Amino acid sequence: VRRGFKVMMTVLAVAGLLVGAGAIAFVVSPNVQDKGFAYAARTQLGRQGQMPDDADALHVLLCGTSSPMPTRVAAKACTMVSAGGMLFLVDVGPESSENLALWRIPSPKIQGVFLTHFHSDHIGELGEINMQGWAQGRRTALPVYGGPGIEQVVGGFNMAYAADRRYRHAHHDRGRGLLPLEGAEMRAQTIAMPAQPDSRGVRSTIAYRGNGLTVTAIETNHRPVQPAYSYRFDYKGRSVLITGDTVYHKPLASAAKGVDLLVSEAQSYTMQDIIAAEAEAVGQSTLGRVLRDTRDYHINPVDAARMANEAGARMLLYTHVAPALVNPLLKAPWLRGVEAVRPKGVQIGEDGLVATIPSDGGKIRWTRLKG
Ligand SMILES: [Zn+2]
Ligand SMILES: [Zn+2]
Repeated sequence: VRRGFKVMMTVLAVAGLLVGAGAIAFVVSPNVQDKGFAYAARTQLGRQGQMPDDADALHVLLCGTSSPMPTRVAAKACTMVSAGGMLFLVDVGPESSENLALWRIPSPKIQGVFLTHFHSDHIGELGEINMQGWAQGRRTALPVYGGPGIEQVVGGFNMAYAADRRYRHAHHDRGRGLLPLEGAEMRAQTIAMPAQPDSRGVRSTIAYRGNGLTVTAIETNHRPVQPAYSYRFDYKGRSVLITGDTVYHKPLASAAKGVDLLVSEAQSYTMQDIIAAEAEAVGQSTLGRVLRDTRDYHINPVDAARMANEAGARMLLYTHVAPALVNPLLKAPWLRGVEAVRPKGVQIGEDGLVATIPSDGGKIRWTRLKG
C-alpha cells in the first residue's frame, strides 16, 4: 500500500511539473502560444463535421428550444431539418444564430427558412442568419417562406441591414467577386392556404418540393395570431412535423398522421401560473397578467402527448419549453400527467440535440452537438 502511495505521489508530482512547465512555456514563448492557439482554432473549425450526414436519413437539429422567457440554457425557437444534404430552418428565434455558428453548421448551405408565425421569439434572428450565410459564401438570395405578411417581415429586415451589406460588400469585394450583392437580400415566399379545409378539417398546402423532399404547411390554432403554420417534412418515407405555436388542434393531429417525429411546443400551465402568482406578489402585475394569458394559445405537455397519440407519432419531442427547465429536477413537475397518457416515446428537447430518423425504419438515433 505504501509503495502504491509513493508511485501515485510521484506520478502526480511529474504530471504537476509537466503542466507547470507547459503553462510557463505558454506564457513566455510566442511560438508555443501560436501553436496552442492554432490547435484550439482547428478543434473549433473541425466541429463542422459533427452533424450526422447519412444521406438517406432525415435529421432534425434543435437550434433553439426555449419560450420567450429569458434563460441562459437555451435559445428561442429554432429547428433545423436536414435531408440529402439540404438544410432548412423552421423559425430563427433570438440566440439561435449563435448556436448554429458555434456548432459550425455551414450557413451558406441553408437553402431556406420557414417561419411558423411572426412573433418575435420566432423571427428575431432572421437578419443574422441571412447575413452569416452570405458573408460565408452564399451567392444567391435566401428564400424565406411564411404566411401572408411575410413580405413585410422580410422587407423590414432587408431594409434594416441595407447599410451592413453595403459596408461588407465594399470592404470585401474589391474586384474579387466576394460577397456579391445579389446574395445579400432575402426573398419573401408567401404561402397561401386554400380557402376551404379538406374533409379532415385540415387547411394545408405544399410549400416546397425538390430532390425528394416535400414540405407541407398546415394551419394551426395560435389565435389571435394569424397566419400560424406547422410544417411537415416528408423525405424518402420518413417524416417530421414541427408544430410552431398552437393549442391542441384536432386537424393538426390529422395532418401529423403517422409521422416518425412530432416536434411540439409545450408549456406547463401549472408552473407558468406559479411564476405569475410570484410576479404579482412582488408587484410585477403586468408580467403576471401576460403570463396567465399565454395558456389560451399554447398547448400543455399532456395535450401535446394526446395529440402525438392521435397522430400515431413514433416519438414526441418537446420544444419551446416553457418555463425553461434550468435544473433537471424541474422535469418532474413539467412532465406531470404525461406518463399516464403516453408512457413511452417522449423526449424533452435541448439545444444541440439531433434526432436522426434512419432510412431502414429503425430506431431514432440521438446525437448532441458540441460547440
Ligand atoms: Zn407565438
Ligand atoms: Zn413562441
